[in-house]
Amino acid sequence: MTSLRSPQPLPDERHPCDHAADGAALDAALTLCRREGVALTPSRRRILELLAQGRRPLGAYELIDKVAAATGKRPAPISIYRALDFLLENGLIHRLASRNAYLACGHGHARETPIVFLICESCGEVAEADSSALRASIAALASEAHFAPRTQVMEVAGVCRACAANS
Ligand SMILES: [Zn+2]
Ligand SMILES: [Zn+2]
Repeated sequence: MTSLRSPQPLPDERHPCDHAADGAALDAALTLCRREGVALTPSRRRILELLAQGRRPLGAYELIDKVAAATGKRPAPISIYRALDFLLENGLIHRLASRNAYLACGHGHARETPIVFLICESCGEVAEADSSALRASIAALASEAHFAPRTQVMEVAGVCRACAANS
């Protein structure tokens, strides 16, 4: 992935941390690990690196292929899933339910922070955005329902700016 496009913010607010350049998500994630004292084993770090390389989310089997290509050894799926669970638990990656795929997050936001994924169905690029207006309405909605939200993830499928311009 050589794309250096900026994520598309929701109209009312940009994401505080704009990981436009490849590698920025990894740098931010590694800084976060150091700050939180999270120990990354080489295999966990490799998964994080692979996910941070592009703006397209990767599925577990794509990760297995990439690890095999990089190391010459095919990892067992369970070891990949363990690494993914660890990275998810530590807020270093996100899972896109609609794609069953994962992507790196270097934003260091709280796990409960509502986030919106803008998923381009044409190029597969995913931008992570958040919005204070959205945050407030979800909080109001949950409190009216006496509901305690754990994760708040919205997945919006469509066409990104670059693909719209090319069509
Ligand atoms: Zn995130
Ligand atoms: Zn696109």
